[in-house]
Amino acid sequence: MTKIAPTPSHPASTRPDYDVIVIGSGIGGLVTATQLAAKGAKVLVLERYLIPGGSAGYFEREGYCFDVGASMIFGFGTEGTTNLLTRALDAVGMKIETIPDSCQIHYHLPQGLELKVHRDYEQFLGELGDRFPQERQGIRRFYDECWQVFNCLNVMELLSLEELGYLFRVFFQHPLACLGLVKYLPQNVGDIARRYIKDPELLKFIDMECYCWSVVPAAKTPMINAGMVFSDRHYGGINYPKGGVGQIAQKLVEGLEKAGGQIQYKARVSQIILENGRAVGVQLATGEHYYATRIVSNATRWDTFEKLLPSELMPPSEKRWKERYQKSPSFLSLHLGVDASVLAEGTECHHILLEEWEKMEEAEGTIFVSIPTLLDPSLAPAGHHIIHSFTPSWIKDWQNLSTKEYEEKKEAAADRIIDRLEQIFPHLTQAIDYQEVGTARTHRRFLGRDDGTYGPIPRRKLAGLLGMPFNRTAIPGLYCVGDSTFPGQGLNAVAFSGFACAHRVAVDLGY
Ligand SMILES: Cc1cc2nc3c(=O)[nH]c(=O)nc-3n(C[C@H](O)[C@H](O)[C@H](O)COP(=O)(O)OP(=O)(O)OC[C@H]3O[C@@H](n4cnc5c(N)ncnc54)[C@H](O)[C@@H]3O)c2cc1C
Repeated sequence: MTKIAPTPSHPASTRPDYDVIVIGSGIGGLVTATQLAAKGAKVLVLERYLIPGGSAGYFEREGYCFDVGASMIFGFGTEGTTNLLTRALDAVGMKIETIPDSCQIHYHLPQGLELKVHRDYEQFLGELGDRFPQERQGIRRFYDECWQVFNCLNVMELLSLEELGYLFRVFFQHPLACLGLVKYLPQNVGDIARRYIKDPELLKFIDMECYCWSVVPAAKTPMINAGMVFSDRHYGGINYPKGGVGQIAQKLVEGLEKAGGQIQYKARVSQIILENGRAVGVQLATGEHYYATRIVSNATRWDTFEKLLPSELMPPSEKRWKERYQKSPSFLSLHLGVDASVLAEGTECHHILLEEWEKMEEAEGTIFVSIPTLLDPSLAPAGHHIIHSFTPSWIKDWQNLSTKEYEEKKEAAADRIIDRLEQIFPHLTQAIDYQEVGTARTHRRFLGRDDGTYGPIPRRKLAGLLGMPFNRTAIPGLYCVGDSTFPGQGLNAVAFSGFACAHRVAVDLGY
């Protein structure tokens, strides 16, 4: 059981060191911090690891620069309001050169279903319609409806839905868009897809279209998120940051410091300090205390409310949230450096591989593949590529093993993935130059995420996004940001959460 930190020698509320302390430097935390620093707030980010970024971090081995996780990046467009990564960097005077990807995903699905999601919307719909000619009209009507959601989002400034002044303003500026969003907020993709599409195989494809970023099938995937993903890939497009995904966090930190904010690495917060029930500061694992008027946690909700705070103080709203949402699995990640000759001419950057529909959600069912060096060759030694593959995996399968058993199990799992990848990259085994495996334990250890989870997923079919909490919590002075908050996982989504959190905190601080 976590103990409550001792009452500080001076009442924190009278002498806070900072306006805001952000626990964690994931993209959600950094967007919050940079937005607040840009408004003039005194901000401190405390990061337990050596570099910023969390799941959007990187690591270097033998001349390869591997993305830890994310590499299919939304939010780097130049038009509209949903290009949140571009806007977050811009707010602190930063910019990243990006490389456009002409294809979001090349799917390799059961019964030889090979499909590409081209950046060009008509090309995508055309090829999907060729494969399911009887559903051509339904396909268009379904994806066009996703555009309706996106078009509503893409006209308004995306800030805190917990701030009444903003809600009134945005409603008067864009009444139809707001009504559109209210309509879609409680809806899931599956219900809308079934309105237009009857073919069971095509409905399975829609499930996979959702699963590959929401890790749940269409029936449980909120329509708001799908509207963003299924449309923005053809609008702002998928754009890879030159120098690797790690650049996003590095540049945000550079911008944070330029704006007067601070970040400390190797600074693991072990407790959130409460004074009369209010969050007033944090205690590091090393024992130091820092105080602020507002505390923002970028750790997952499980880490925040079960580890950083005493579990017996868990607010009823958090208990209710846990009844609705559960931890998604983690991933088994295989990072390969390979000889470039193994990739055929025209190979796409992102692939999804599944041999049996029934296994889509199972451990080691769906395999996700990213080859970022097809877009930015500087991430690997000359003549080589990075192939990052990952597949769902639960922590329970990696616990209670001796070191030898753990290593052997990792090796065996890597072999199984490589065998399957041979279907799309023949002779892969012979081309491997470097290999590293990460398990759920690795994700837990290096990303500080409970059980290494990818994030919250609904336990059952819920009313769209209505159940996802915003940034304020039931504990006064404490906010959450990142993928445990509205609107969920993905870099652009957590950037949205960061904008919203900073907005809410800024209003509460009187900015
Ligand atoms: C394998 C994989 C592939 C993915 N692929 C994509 C993709 O292609 N596209 C996409 O958009 N998204 C992708 N995602 C999802 C995306 O990376 C995440 O949703 C997003 O990065 C989460 O950001 P966050 O701000 O919520 O938190 P995190 O990235 O989890 O960052 C939280 C930070 O807080 C720190 N922290 C935690 N606890 C403490 C503490 N007590 N004290 C101090 N610091 C602490 C952690 O070290 C970490 O740096 C992928 C994720 C994974 C794992």
